[in-house]
Amino acid sequence: MTITSINPATGENIADYEETSSADVREAVEQAHEASQRWRGRDLAERAALMGAAARVLRDGARDYGRLMAEEMGKPISQGIAEAEKCASGCDYFAENAANFLAPEVVDIGRRKSFVTFQPLGVILAVMPWNFPFWQVFRFAAPALMAGNAAVLKHSSNVPACALAAEEVFLKAGFPENLFRTLLIGSGTVESVIEHPLVRAVTLTGSGPAGRAVARKAGEMLKKTVLELGGSDAYLVLDDADVSFAAKTSAQGRLINSGQSCIAAKRFIVLESVRSSFEEAFVEEMRAAKMGDPLSEDTAVGPLARHDLRDALHRQVETSIAKGARSLLGGKIPDGPGAYYPPTVLTDVKPGMPAYHEEMFGPVAAVIPVADEAEAVEVANGSPFGLGGGIFTRDLDRGERLASADIEAGSVFVNATVQSHPKLPFGGVKESGYGRELSHYGIREFVNIKTIVVA
Ligand code: NAP
Repeated sequence: MTITSINPATGENIADYEETSSADVREAVEQAHEASQRWRGRDLAERAALMGAAARVLRDGARDYGRLMAEEMGKPISQGIAEAEKCASGCDYFAENAANFLAPEVVDIGRRKSFVTFQPLGVILAVMPWNFPFWQVFRFAAPALMAGNAAVLKHSSNVPACALAAEEVFLKAGFPENLFRTLLIGSGTVESVIEHPLVRAVTLTGSGPAGRAVARKAGEMLKKTVLELGGSDAYLVLDDADVSFAAKTSAQGRLINSGQSCIAAKRFIVLESVRSSFEEAFVEEMRAAKMGDPLSEDTAVGPLARHDLRDALHRQVETSIAKGARSLLGGKIPDGPGAYYPPTVLTDVKPGMPAYHEEMFGPVAAVIPVADEAEAVEVANGSPFGLGGGIFTRDLDRGERLASADIEAGSVFVNATVQSHPKLPFGGVKESGYGRELSHYGIREFVNIKTIVVA
C-alpha cells in the first residue's frame, strides 16, 4: 500500500510513500516505549534544552517547511512560514515553563508529608489533520514530550512529507531516537495502534466522525482521549459594533488558512440594524483577498487541500442556495487546474440549510440576520459545535458579559477573531470535543496526577 502526496494547486503527484507495515508499527510503538523509559528519568532542564533546540530547527527551516506545506496542502507560503515560527514559539514556551507547570504541589492534610506529582504516561498516539500540518503536531508534542512521554504520530494521509518532517525536526534537535515516531498509516490501522498495550492515551484533532471512532475504541480499551474536533464559530455583530472594523476582522477570520481552520469565523450573526452596512463592507473585504498560487508571497487564499474537499464545500453552497440563501459573492468553481474555491458570502442563511447547521471548511461565510441580542445568542448556541466565537461591540462590558455568561464555546474573543496562544488553554465543548491543549492545562492532560502521602 502507498500513501500519495498530491499538489492541490496543480493536481500533480508529488511522491508516493510506502505505508508502514503492521509489524513495523508494533516495533515503532515498542521502541518509543523503550525510549520513554529512559526519557522520563532525564531532568527537565535536559528536556528543555532539547525542546529549545527543536525551536531553533523550526525557525531555521521555516521557509522550507512553509514551502512543503504549500506544495502538499496548498497553504499560502507566508502563512506556512508563520506556522513554523509559531511552532518554534510553542516549543520555547514549554521548554521555559514545563518545570513550573510540573512542579510537585504540596497539599497539607495534617500528615508528615503530602503532595501531588505529575508523571509521564508513556507512549501517546497522536492522530492529526492536514490543515495546520505542523502546528497541530507541535502543539501536542511540545508539552507531551516535556512531560516525559513519547509519541507516535498518525498524520493525515495527504501530508506524509509534513509528517516525516516533524519527526526529523526532533532528530535534528538531538532528541533520543524513537522518542517521536511518524507512522505512515491509513485511518483503518488506527484501532490496532490504540489496542497496543504500550499505547497509553490518544489525542485526535480532526472531524467528528474520526473523533467518535477513536474515542469509541479508546473507551473500549480504557485509554484516555483528548479530542479537538470541528467548529462552526459564531461571530455576533451587535447594533453598536464598529462595522467596518467588524467586516475587516471577520474577513480575516473567515479566510485564515483559505478558510480551512477549526476556529475560523464561520457564521456571522448580524443584527438587522447593521446588516446592510456590514454585508456591504464584508463583501468588499472578502473580494479584496487575493486567491492564487500558494507559493506566491502575496497570496491570501490558496487552493483547498484536496479536490474532494472543494467539491463537498461547493455542494454545501449549492444546497444552501437551492434552499433560499442568497450569494453576495463567489460560489462558483473557477476554471483551470487546482482545488481552488473563491471567497464566498451567503446571506439570508436559515435553519434547514447546510450553511446554517454544518461546518463549512473553506472560504465560505454564512450571514444570519437576527432581530436582537437575545436571538443572536440563541442562534449562536443553536449549533452542535462549541469551539470558539466572537462578539463585535463598542460596549466592552456588554461584550465581556455575553462572552463569559452566554456563549457556549471553549474560547470567546471580543472585537477580535479567535486565535490559539501557547499561554491560553485551547479546546471545545459539545461536539467540538473535550480536553484542553496548550498552557498548564494542556501539559497536564497526558500525565499521571499522582498523590503521595507520607504518614
Ligand atoms: P479527518 O478526516 O477527521 O482527519 C483527521 C485525522 O483523523 C486524519 O489523520 C485522518 O486520517 C484520521 N481519521 C479519519 N477517520 C478516522 C477514523 N475513522 N479512525 C481513525 N482515524 C481517522 O479531518 P480532516 O478533514 O483532516 O480535518 C478537518 C477537520 O478537523 C475539521 O472538522 C476541523 O474543524 C477539524 N479540526 C479541529 C481542530 C481543533 O483543534 N479543534 C483543529 C484543526 C482541525 P486519514 O487522513 O488517513 O483519513
